[in-house]
Amino acid sequence: MQQTKWTVAALSLGMLFAVTGCASDSADRAGEADVQPKVSTVSDVANSTTATGDETNSTAASQQDGAAAASSVKQPVLYNTHLAPKVYGMRKFPYPYEAMLAISSDADSETLRKFNLVHEFINTTQMTPLGRGLGLDFADSFFMYNGNNEPGYVDIDQEPMSDELSYFKGVSDEPYAASVINHYIHVGWIDTMHTYGDFSRVNPHQTLFTRQLAKQAIQALKANGDAITVWTDHGNKSNVDNFGDYGKSPFYSYQQGANPWSKYYHTDLTIPYGIRFVWPDSSSDEFGMKSMIYPLMLPDGQRVWGFWRYTNEGYTKKGDPEWNWTPFNLAEQLTPAHFAQIEREHEYSIVAQHLSGTNYPGVLPTSAVDALRLLAAQYHEGKILVTRTSRLLTYNVTQQYVWYDVTYGQGKAYIHIRAILDPVFGRHVPTTNEIRGLTFYTSNPAATVLEIGNTPIPAQLIQDNHSDGVHPSVAIKWWPVDTTNYAETAPGVK
Ligand SMILES: [Zn+2]
Repeated sequence: MQQTKWTVAALSLGMLFAVTGCASDSADRAGEADVQPKVSTVSDVANSTTATGDETNSTAASQQDGAAAASSVKQPVLYNTHLAPKVYGMRKFPYPYEAMLAISSDADSETLRKFNLVHEFINTTQMTPLGRGLGLDFADSFFMYNGNNEPGYVDIDQEPMSDELSYFKGVSDEPYAASVINHYIHVGWIDTMHTYGDFSRVNPHQTLFTRQLAKQAIQALKANGDAITVWTDHGNKSNVDNFGDYGKSPFYSYQQGANPWSKYYHTDLTIPYGIRFVWPDSSSDEFGMKSMIYPLMLPDGQRVWGFWRYTNEGYTKKGDPEWNWTPFNLAEQLTPAHFAQIEREHEYSIVAQHLSGTNYPGVLPTSAVDALRLLAAQYHEGKILVTRTSRLLTYNVTQQYVWYDVTYGQGKAYIHIRAILDPVFGRHVPTTNEIRGLTFYTSNPAATVLEIGNTPIPAQLIQDNHSDGVHPSVAIKWWPVDTTNYAETAPGVK
């Protein structure tokens, strides 16, 4: 289905077009069409106790109720700042935003030329060939290898598939785009591994993937200090290193990456390396969700967070997803109606795309540029916090599973963030980066102290907010805005 749609879109513009999409055989997936989010809720959040007994406890459920109430209560409230402050609970998203959104773009047919055009436009505020940059936090995905032998071109000027952006040349140990990929991981323009490589073959029963390639990849990433937490499955059945949906239906039996009995097994290396979030090649036509994450048990017994991406607008009568994850369909994804929905419902959204997936000379057609401008306006108006996928997912875990309590004394309120009760990777005391964006309603932000355990969080990380119509709030600051143009070229890399 996806391949059909891409081809039609490309032909209508008279463009040559390389198709290495992530969608698999749609006919085989018909039974998978009606996937529903499996959002887990916190049932094991301990009721905390405090010294004063005047505590405010919070669970995921009550936090979301609080956020929902935020839009319905609008009458002005007077706060007497001479009284001891009162903490009311958590705000779902950092002030003043009503929703959070990430674009998750797959590395199919990526070249450095297209990558740089896309990121200069989306991430910076400079003038670019696509117009004034949008200043959004967006991180891309990448391949370590290129084992693709499909016909077609990856870019204009009949750039062959062998020039697709990848860390190593082909399936060798010789670096290709390694230095620029390292650079982009370090500066935050890449945060997602789109599997170990593009292994799609014309014959889906062949593959060039080996366990040794996974070993070599992890070794190289570690040696260069490349920390990646997000994995998205990719491509046709040749991509045997996929692993997110093994066992879900017979179609997914090609996904061997997490099977200890398979020669393609690699998750014993990949999960300890640091992968925390896995998109398992599942479709979803829900633009927004209360939570994007669900526990995913792998065949080898390891657990990771699975996550949803919005990949299609509805399904055909046969149950096949109507994929809309190419730039030609971006305007169908990023619509005012979708934005209004996630703002009203206080939802997350992860929008699946292939921003570098076409051979369109300007990379993004006008309709896609306009759609991204609509999104940027929502961000700059303080409605939707647009951020990279890894940050959204980390925040999602924190917001859903944070455990805190409140104590009062000497005219102040103390919010003690005790732990993240992460049901997948375990209960732990968070770092400050892990709780960035957490926001608490209080009658007096100046007299409300945020602490990890009993240790105050440094003042430069704290932000006091005016009332949003519900209450004033105090927060751990979100990540600083970074619109630096990090674009680089590399000799010999197309
Ligand atoms: Zn892909």
